[in-house]
Formats: sequence, structure tokens, C-alpha cells
Amino acid sequence: MKHPENDARYRGLTVNKGIDQPPIINPYSTKRSPRKQYSVEEYVQGILAGNNVILSQAVTLIESLRPDHQETAHEIIERCLPYAGRSVRWGITGVPGAGKSTSIEAFGMELIRQGRKLAVLAIDPSSERSKGSILGDKTRMEALSVEPKAFVRPSPTGGSLGGVARKTRESIVLCEAAGFDTIFVETVGVGQSETAVHSMVDFFLLIQIAGAGDELQGIKRGIMEMSDGIVINKADGNNIDRANLAAAQYRSALKLFPMPDSGVRPQVLCYSAQQLSGVAEVIEMVNKHIELFKTNGSFEQRRTQQSIYWMRQSIDESLRNHFYHKPEMAAMLREKEQEVLSNKKTPFSAARELLDFYYNS
Ligand code: GDP
Repeated sequence: MKHPENDARYRGLTVNKGIDQPPIINPYSTKRSPRKQYSVEEYVQGILAGNNVILSQAVTLIESLRPDHQETAHEIIERCLPYAGRSVRWGITGVPGAGKSTSIEAFGMELIRQGRKLAVLAIDPSSERSKGSILGDKTRMEALSVEPKAFVRPSPTGGSLGGVARKTRESIVLCEAAGFDTIFVETVGVGQSETAVHSMVDFFLLIQIAGAGDELQGIKRGIMEMSDGIVINKADGNNIDRANLAAAQYRSALKLFPMPDSGVRPQVLCYSAQQLSGVAEVIEMVNKHIELFKTNGSFEQRRTQQSIYWMRQSIDESLRNHFYHKPEMAAMLREKEQEVLSNKKTPFSAARELLDFYYNS
């Protein structure tokens, strides 16, 4: 019998045909139809009808740097403004690891259980470097991210803090027009971003954790003064006593602060976002305070002040952009920077010369 190995074509090194590998490029992805371009009218109607996909694409336009996108975004925002404003806006801050995302998931799911619709936005000034350290991680907020009554959006990236904050504020308008009655704006409790968040929310919640004794050490007085409520997370297991102690320390520290503009003293509560204990109480506390703010007029007053603040921010941003992007300025800017670097000029006289040139050119 003829053995196959005696065949002249047989080689010891013949490689059998293995399993077919799929192509590296998914052929279906190239066949997918390109993203539909909507008209302003379609965007507005989609948002007002509560279509989260259209809302998401409109937020992408807000975040885009393309002038034509910005123009469309501006028109959409203008058209949505009459439908905005009817939500309760929470600002949520706390150092990394305090449990912000776990808490947002816990508070958010409870609010949804109570019949609310929640949009979660963020301001993360570090996101350009870390490629979105907050809300960017898909493993976070697992329940909320698949919940149809929730809209979770990571922080816009790129640009100055002011620019990032403006985009988030504009996104709030669209989310409210889409029917979200509760908006969370998350930020990391480091740096200037709390001020930006504070200027766009009705209630500023500071999440703390019990530390190693010296509770008030790492926290800036400014953030405490800004807070409408302080909550101590991770009050579970053998951490309960330490959390209660931290709460007592915050309560006595707060007594030394002047009465906030809202006319209502912040409360301090302990809870556990992981064990879901005390979560409903935190929500109740926020709701109760919002009611008090509405009764004493500070709610309206705060929103009015915020509108003025945003008008000024918008002027600042626009002037700054105009100054730095004016083509005639580029060479002069480089020249003056060099002069400052080589100590030929003080920063102030260089700035004055640049501004004179700007106004007269
Ligand atoms: P973020 O950086 O402030 O958003 O914090 P995360 O929500 O990512 O939480 C940081 C870590 O703390 C995670 O490992 C969480 O599982 C844990 N954590 C959050 N909330 C609690 C809590 O209530 N109790 C305990 N024991 N751990 C928690």
C-alpha cells in the first residue's frame, strides 16, 4: 500500500492548514452606515423627546472644537434653554478613593427607584493627562450605565478648566431639556474644579472618609465653606466608630464657620455606599435642604448669581481666545515670552506691551 509519506510531494516540514484566522479589520464595521447628520431641528426634537442617543451626540457637538460643530451646538442650546432649569443639580466632590463613583451609583439607583431620571456629568481637569480618570472607567457605575433612566457622560477632555466647565454647564441644559430631573456633577476634590462645579449646582455635597485621626488636615477650608452637606462614606464594618468620630469633628468644625449664604447650616451624615446603609437618609437630607433653599429664596438667588457668573466666564473665555488666537499676536507673543524668559522685561511690562499691541492692531 502506498504510504502518503512516500509521496514525492510530502515534506517533513509541510505545515498543515490551520484554522482560518478572521481578518484583522472587522468587515462589518466598514459597512456600517456613517453617523447620521441631524439638523438643529432634529436634534432639538430628539432631545425633547428624551432620545438619549441624540442627546449624547448633541453633547459631543458641545465638546467638539470644530467651529461648525460649536455653531450647531450653540443653536441647539438656545433652542433647549426654555425647557431647561427644572431639575435639582447636585455637585459631588471628594478626594480620589473617597467613594464618589460608588456613591453616585448608590444615590443614583435609589433616586431612580424613587421615580427620578438622573444625568451624571463630570468635570475632571486632569482628564487630558489621565485620559479621563473620572467617569471614564467603564467598570464604574455598572448599574447606572445600563439604566435607561440614567445618562452617564464622562468629563469633556482638553482645554482650560474654564472651557471644560462651560461644556459641562451647557450639557446640563440639554440634559434638563431631555427630561432629567436630577443632575449630578462629579469632580475630584483637588484643585480648582470644585469652584467651577459649585458655580453650577444647587447643592454641593462633600464626600469624606474617616482618616487616621487628623480628619480636617488634608481638606481645604474653602471646600468645607462651599459645602451644603458633608457625608462620611465607608461607615461600615469596623470603620463605623471612626466614621462617627469624624462626623463629630466635622460638626464641631462647622460651628466655627459663618452662616452660609443659603441661610441653612450644612449637616453631617455617615453612610456606606457599598453596604447601601444611610443612602436614603443622605438623599432625604439633600431634598430637605433644597426645600429650605426654595422657601427662603436662596435657591433662586443662587441660580441668578450663577447665571451672571457664567455670563462673565463666557466673556472672559471669548476675550482670551480672541487674544491668543489673533494671527497678528503670535509672533509678538513669542518675542515677549523670550524677553521675559531672559529677564529683559518684567512679566507686567511685557503684558502691557502685548495688550497695547492687541488693542491697537
Ligand atoms: P472615587 O475615586 O472617589 O470615585 O472612589 P470609588 O467609588 O472608586 O471607591 C474607591 C474604593 O473605595 C473602591 O475600592 C470602593 O469599592 C471602595 N468603597 C466605596 N464605597 C465604600 C463603602 O461604603 N465602604 C467600603 N468599605 N468601601 C467603599
